[in-house]
Amino acid sequence: MTTEVTMDKIVSLCRRRGFVFPASEIYGGMGSSYDYGHYGVLLKDNVKARWLEAMVRERDDIVALDSSIILNPRVWEASGHVGGFSDPLVDCRTCKQRFRADHLADPEHEDVRCGKRPSKRPGETSDCDLTEPRQFNLMFRTRVGAVEATGTDVYLRPETAQGIFVNFKNVAQLARRKPPFGIAQVGKAFRNEITPGNFIFRTLEFEQMEMEFFVPPSEADEWYRYWVAERLAWHVRYGIREESLRVRPHEADELSHYSSGTSDIEYLFPIGWSELEGIANRGDFDLTQHTAASGTKLEWVDSGSGERFVPHVIEPALGVNRSMLAFLVDAYEEEVVGERERTVLRLHPQLAPVKAAVLPLIAKDGAMVERARSLYEELRRSASVEYDDSGAIGRRYRRQDEIGTPWAFTIDEQTTVDGTVTVRDRDSLAQERIPLENVTSWLAGRLVEPWSAPPRH
Ligand code: ATP
Repeated sequence: MTTEVTMDKIVSLCRRRGFVFPASEIYGGMGSSYDYGHYGVLLKDNVKARWLEAMVRERDDIVALDSSIILNPRVWEASGHVGGFSDPLVDCRTCKQRFRADHLADPEHEDVRCGKRPSKRPGETSDCDLTEPRQFNLMFRTRVGAVEATGTDVYLRPETAQGIFVNFKNVAQLARRKPPFGIAQVGKAFRNEITPGNFIFRTLEFEQMEMEFFVPPSEADEWYRYWVAERLAWHVRYGIREESLRVRPHEADELSHYSSGTSDIEYLFPIGWSELEGIANRGDFDLTQHTAASGTKLEWVDSGSGERFVPHVIEPALGVNRSMLAFLVDAYEEEVVGERERTVLRLHPQLAPVKAAVLPLIAKDGAMVERARSLYEELRRSASVEYDDSGAIGRRYRRQDEIGTPWAFTIDEQTTVDGTVTVRDRDSLAQERIPLENVTSWLAGRLVEPWSAPPRH
């Protein structure tokens, strides 16, 4: 029987095993805000590392950047965010809830839940008293300066992209790159989201992985198609099942003001098909806007031929937290093994927070413990590994299954006799014996092998 993966099950696992907690919980929590515990941090770091690897390390045409969260407020005027980065909102005077007008208009949309019963959809009963849609800016505003009266209003960045555009000239010169080339950035972004969060799918603060790819205008369409395919392949490479992904090109009336083409890579989340990543053909909008507003020409000039043009930009933009949620949902499985149930996260080994567990079969056996501790010390120099000697071996395996640890090395009586250990595979449950001295190289080899999700049971 296939596991039905609900958001409740994911939330419960994340909480139970310390991946993600509600933020400031002892004060009653904070809507749409979450804190990440030990395994959550490790998983999130691995998602970012795999993205940076694919974007920067494995390529010659993309460089990295880390720009400020607080920028000169004129950046956000020029980018159109001060005037236009808003959602039309509808309030209900009866139940005091807020809804996005575009979500209300969509009969299928999951985010739309009325606060009162028996009405299921806002506006459905005569009790519902909805306002006209009003624009609501999504940017968080704060003040820089010690004195309130003389301070300056600034914004927490709602996306990392603008930090890249305003650095175009610096990076193009220093990195000695010629279009097509890209600038990649991972960092926090903040949005005053008002609709219910659906766990870490939509939060007030989140991390983005954005890459702006600057190309000669005549090549923009070709690069746009290239990046849609490339980004789709990345999700599959790290284990998302192809049948849970689809590409949805935006309709003309959905396109942002700057975009001549946008496609969402959608994932079948427990809340239904929803945007995982957006890939936009932004044309020359951003560089042109910042050139006009700052007076600094953001264009490409070829020092040899003197040829000049304003590059067009292709942008793949993915939320770290949303990506982590998709990986968790896709990896989650419940199954019965023998007589017992287990919950397992079949995460790609390169995403798994812990790569291997080292387990002495009998915690009180000095010889086993000594060998297990020394193997653990050796492995931890190159990989994230855990030592666990508490409880029955079956329970220890299940603990590791729940956090997605791909392999466990068990030191038992035979180890003390012939120097071999048992390797247990999380997915197949197969066990094999390998020499203790080969464990480090065995693990290193397995970690770089291609991997794909096993079929769901
Ligand atoms: P949505 O329609 O879901 O609000 P968007 O189209 O406004 O998203 P973009 O501006 O394209 O999102 O941002 C790029 C990516 O950043 C999204 O595909 C998503 O992965 C992530 N993202 C955007 N807003 C949030 C948020 N509030 N919480 C978590 N991730 C987010």
